[in-house]
Amino acid sequence: MLYRVEGIVVRTVDYGENHKIVTLITNNSGKAGVLVRGARKVRSKHASLAQPFTYGEYSYTRQTGLGTLQHGELIASNHLLRSDLDLAAHASYIAELIDRCIADEEIGLVHFEQLKACFAALMEGKDVVVLTAIFEMKMLMMSGYSPIVEECIHCGNHVGPFKLSSYAGGIVCSRCAAQDASLLTVSETALKLLRLFKRLDLRQVGNINLSPETKQEVSGLIRQLIDMQLGIKFKTRSFLDNLGKLV
Ligand SMILES: [Zn+2]
Repeated sequence: MLYRVEGIVVRTVDYGENHKIVTLITNNSGKAGVLVRGARKVRSKHASLAQPFTYGEYSYTRQTGLGTLQHGELIASNHLLRSDLDLAAHASYIAELIDRCIADEEIGLVHFEQLKACFAALMEGKDVVVLTAIFEMKMLMMSGYSPIVEECIHCGNHVGPFKLSSYAGGIVCSRCAAQDASLLTVSETALKLLRLFKRLDLRQVGNINLSPETKQEVSGLIRQLIDMQLGIKFKTRSFLDNLGKLV
């Protein structure tokens, strides 16, 4: 069967001496593994289609399992995401996040659109930490772990102050605080941002200017939710964290 998709490369693996297998997030066929023959040859016409973060049109045949690329056209090479160290670290983490936390058959147009918009926003120079945090929130929601940040997760109380339970996956009011052993402090601003990030569509995100402290707080809280709720050990995370210490 011939598939014709728009896709974004989220993972590449060398295969044999000359080939590569790419994992694509596609607009209409979920997550797809595609063999790109000759992709490692310098003069290959398909080499550019097998680069991480590339956005293109891919036509491949597939019976079961892996597809084989027949034809492709570059739409955007997204070169900047590979050449700038800070962008590369964040794009790598974002790509791994969508690849690992969402099952193949669950990937739909909405995932593709959010990833595409996130990469575009990164290259437009919007804040990498904020974009990554919003994308993490989208992934939590799309994998069925949408955090409850509108009311107390235990009793439905709307009146603060609240703390965050990364274990329960939501905010906890002071009445219920005794039930949770390890609660994280959440400032009013961070709580508003958690609520805002849930509603945001990455295709419409403008410039969100936050103080370094707020940025650190909100991205730290979402990171805790990701780790506790998804329980995935990300390969790209240490690179990201080490980079964070340098800048
Ligand atoms: Zn409560």
